Amino acid sequence: MSHSEISSPRYAAKMRNNAKIHCGTCGTNFYLDETDSPPFCSERCKLVDLNRWMHEEISLPHEGGPGELDDPSSSDIAH
Ligand SMILES: [Zn+2]
Repeated sequence: MSHSEISSPRYAAKMRNNAKIHCGTCGTNFYLDETDSPPFCSERCKLVDLNRWMHEEISLPHEGGPGELDDPSSSDIAH
């Protein structure tokens, strides 16, 4: 038995900020301390996601979108 076990690398690794994150843009699993742009794996992925949100907001069809998004009540009246 020795006291060196407490300061072993394996023990130190547990103290590390090693929360694993799933990048919502590219699907990569990475550690929080590996990125400059949490919660994304990279600045690029952050911008891609931001762009996607903005684009969706602008291009979201106000009415008469792709088939299934139609308001059922309005088509009821038409019948
Ligand atoms: Zn990513």
